[in-house]
Amino acid sequence: MIGVEKPDFQTILEEIERETQAEFGKGKVADYIPALARVSPRKFGMAICGVDGGEWVCGDAKEAFSIQSISKVFTLLLALDRLGSGLWKRVGREPSGSAFNSLVLLEAENGYPRNPFINAGALVVTDCIASHSVAPIRRLLTLIRKLSLNQTIVIDEEVALSEEQHGFKNAAIANFLKSHGNLNADVGVVLNTYFRQCAINMSCLDLARACLPFANKGVMPSSGEVVFPAIRARRVNSLLLTCGLYDGVGNFAFRVGIPAKSGVGGGIVGVVPGHLSVCVWSPELDELGNSLVGTAALELLTNKTSLSVF
Ligand code: GLN
Repeated sequence: MIGVEKPDFQTILEEIERETQAEFGKGKVADYIPALARVSPRKFGMAICGVDGGEWVCGDAKEAFSIQSISKVFTLLLALDRLGSGLWKRVGREPSGSAFNSLVLLEAENGYPRNPFINAGALVVTDCIASHSVAPIRRLLTLIRKLSLNQTIVIDEEVALSEEQHGFKNAAIANFLKSHGNLNADVGVVLNTYFRQCAINMSCLDLARACLPFANKGVMPSSGEVVFPAIRARRVNSLLLTCGLYDGVGNFAFRVGIPAKSGVGGGIVGVVPGHLSVCVWSPELDELGNSLVGTAALELLTNKTSLSVF
């Protein structure tokens, strides 16, 4: 863990921004959602929030981007609020070892998704909140705005529509879940809610702030408010560590070594329990759909600070 001296995060972030320059051009911006392909591949931002209240940013850290699968962390919180451990009757807690949108395991395992972060599991989680609330997106935005201390966070409806028009695989997964009795709400309602949650726009600073309670036993350091129980922070962190980057999770643990969640918008949010939350954004993805430069940046961060949990 951190040595006697607290790292100089501002200098470290600026070093990381310089040192990752050589990584650009090696990945590819997500284009299976056409509206996402319009983002500049050269964007780079990073934000760190400490449990002691410190905040550090660099580059495009205050520019909002499409959070995509990072939204699954927040819907999981809402579903756990509703169902508690009953959620695990409908979704597992094991890494999938396959792509985020794969149907293969779902078929073999009778519609019981491996974990809440692959698309199949996330659709079940979204179903849990959509079938218990008349306005699930409003509830989700209320939670996110509160956690990130930013009331201006909104959905990019163009991105949501674009995914709705091209989300054939997600539609297949949702129908498959429904056929196995693992979706209660209407398939169209679940998909629409899912596409809209993925199309929420947030900045690195918003996301680092929103995930800080995971580093702080469920407490928001800014207000001292307990936003979820400490045990939930521990449980969600364990799922982030084992399932947060799909079939890239082992390599990410090896290289970076912190619980984290990626999204195809190029964001990765990470948690160092007891210390800090961090978010990086760089839209070029590796072949598994995780930010290529973002992973390199987080690897530099944990190497420079010994902040890996291992
Ligand atoms: N909306 C995206 C999808 O369902 C989210 C995937 C991701 O960010 N990994 O394909």
